[in-house]
Amino acid sequence: MNYSVTRYCTLCEADDFVASCVDVPKFLGFCRECRNYGNNWMCPPFDFDPLDIWRSYGKVRLYGLRMTPEGECGGENSAMECAREIIIKEKRGLTDELLEEEKKIPGSLSFFAGSCELCPVCAKTTSEPCRFPARARHSIEALGADVSIALKKYLGLDILWIRDDKLPEYLTLAAALLLPR
Ligand code: SF4
Repeated sequence: MNYSVTRYCTLCEADDFVASCVDVPKFLGFCRECRNYGNNWMCPPFDFDPLDIWRSYGKVRLYGLRMTPEGECGGENSAMECAREIIIKEKRGLTDELLEEEKKIPGSLSFFAGSCELCPVCAKTTSEPCRFPARARHSIEALGADVSIALKKYLGLDILWIRDDKLPEYLTLAAALLLPR
């Protein structure tokens, strides 16, 4: 379906971002309810403390995308299917952009929007090593960031949800690039 995209980007102090937007135990609880928990190399449980990663960087460049559907979902597609189509496309573009930015800024690290979907089925499900370690990254949520707080606090964006099989006014994606101290 047709849609328009508005991009947002801002630079935050990492300490301020962590203090106001990161709650690892809370999001670990949410992740435990997700089918990716223990089944995706980029999702919990981890053998490290996510806070150690956040705290080793100086700034967070926060990205937000606001995707506004134009018109109705086509054919038999549900609102969820239409939203997913939009989100997959934009997530792919944002992922490529973040990896390009990482290359330009030595020591930076990107956190993607949502779980790693580079493979149809993650290699973790068969206890094999990650197939694309150079491209796979954790999601910003998997490391404990509360995206709804972060988007509101730093970009003035509310997250809207699908209700009664109707797309909201807009969809959102959030990602981050952590910059060295
Ligand atoms: S790149 Fe593939 S194997 Fe690696 S974490 Fe992502 S989905 Fe899993």
